Amino acid sequence: MAIRITEECIGCAACQPVCPFGAIEMREGKAYITEACTVCGACVEICPVSAIIREEETKEVAMDKNEYKDVWVYLEISDGKARNVGLELVGEGRKLADEMGQKLAGVLIGNNIEGLAKEVFAAGADMVYLAEAPEFAHYNTDGYAATFVDMIRTHKPSVILLGATNDGRDLGPRVACRIGTGLTADCTGLGIDEETGLVAWTRPAFGGNIMATILCPEHRPQMGTVRPSVFKRPVPDYSRDGEIIRVASKVNLADIRTKIIDIIHVCTASCNLEEAEIIVSGGRGLGKPENFCYVEDLANVLGAAVGASRAAVDAGWKPALHQVGQTGKTVGPKIYFACGISGAIQHLAGMSSSDVIIAINKDPDAPIFKVADYGIVGDITEVLPMMTEEFKKIKAG
Ligand code: FAD
Ligand code: SF4
Ligand code: SF4
Repeated sequence: MAIRITEECIGCAACQPVCPFGAIEMREGKAYITEACTVCGACVEICPVSAIIREEETKEVAMDKNEYKDVWVYLEISDGKARNVGLELVGEGRKLADEMGQKLAGVLIGNNIEGLAKEVFAAGADMVYLAEAPEFAHYNTDGYAATFVDMIRTHKPSVILLGATNDGRDLGPRVACRIGTGLTADCTGLGIDEETGLVAWTRPAFGGNIMATILCPEHRPQMGTVRPSVFKRPVPDYSRDGEIIRVASKVNLADIRTKIIDIIHVCTASCNLEEAEIIVSGGRGLGKPENFCYVEDLANVLGAAVGASRAAVDAGWKPALHQVGQTGKTVGPKIYFACGISGAIQHLAGMSSSDVIIAINKDPDAPIFKVADYGIVGDITEVLPMMTEEFKKIKAG
């Protein structure tokens, strides 16, 4: 789709303030749509002379959609283990595959990783596509994208799920573009659209104020990235087994344009939020950066990761690696402590699926208390040290 201004434009500029993206400029007495246009359509009705047209692109799609079947999940590997996000998606992919009456396959690309297939079967997959080669020992964009594209062209899956992680966000769009399909990024919900039988990809839009549900009717595979911890990892059933389909590497080392010289782990346990069972997060209510020590002390005693609201990150109190929320990480720990965090919708978008939420805030009307399982009204600088001491005693005892 595209937005076009016709010759009828009288240059009244009524459309300019309506555009939420500042995408309309006045040039030589007429409206001009810039590249910032998202084709949201908000300006179309406002024009008094109907000079703004939303054009549907009529692209011929030469694709037999019936050839495409099965649901695939790409499994990211870190330090020789399948990351939680992939296994969470196998659990969710199982539900989609069952509803569609299709099979579920995991995609493993790496080196010496065949042993991981049993984890993927235990999580619910029927098959694993396995590409093993020394050139896949570490994630690299060129080798992985070429191999994944090759697998898709050969086996034609109907749906592909990837984690919305650094690797998934690199690989997914690149593969989608080469295959010529779309990709819904950063989904927070998946389902099947009753009317069409297509995957309904749900994700926040317009700053998290609405949830948009997106369908991919014309192209295959239907692809999307899903945020970690949105879904629970299924309880493994090691009695399950499946078929391993080996895929030979067609990648030449010369095709890989990047070379890994060294791997430096910047993320310690304290910022491994996506895998953490307990997270203690601090917000602007801490008042000053030094007060983050109260959050860190409690996290140390509990063996927890340390999170932060965007306000705390923007203030420079914590690096962005720690940010929880719509533009940070999505987390789903067993226990989430929200300390001096108001509970803005964008923060909740990243942590509301936590099993137990404990909020500490001096304002009894703070929105965080609406989602909290336990709420403590009090000053964070007094409450946190007391909690830390109590937990220390419990641990010592
Ligand atoms: P505040 O809203 O200022 O809340 C501070 C809280 O601390 C208050 O409730 C106050 O009562 C309490 N308090 C103050 N002093 C004390 C004390 N001594 N003891 C106890 N309690 C105290 N935010 C995120 O967190 N993550 C995101 O990913 C994110 N993405 C965003 C994306 C977009 C597009 C936009 C527009 C916003 C985003 N935000 C995000 C920002 C979000 O809207 C809020 O501004 C932010 O979450 C507020 O952070 P806060 O709760 O720490 O600060
Ligand atoms: Fe702006 Fe939306 Fe109109 Fe594009 S369609 S110019 S983004 S109001
Ligand atoms: Fe032109 Fe219509 Fe915009 Fe007025 S509202 S500037 S007539 S496009």
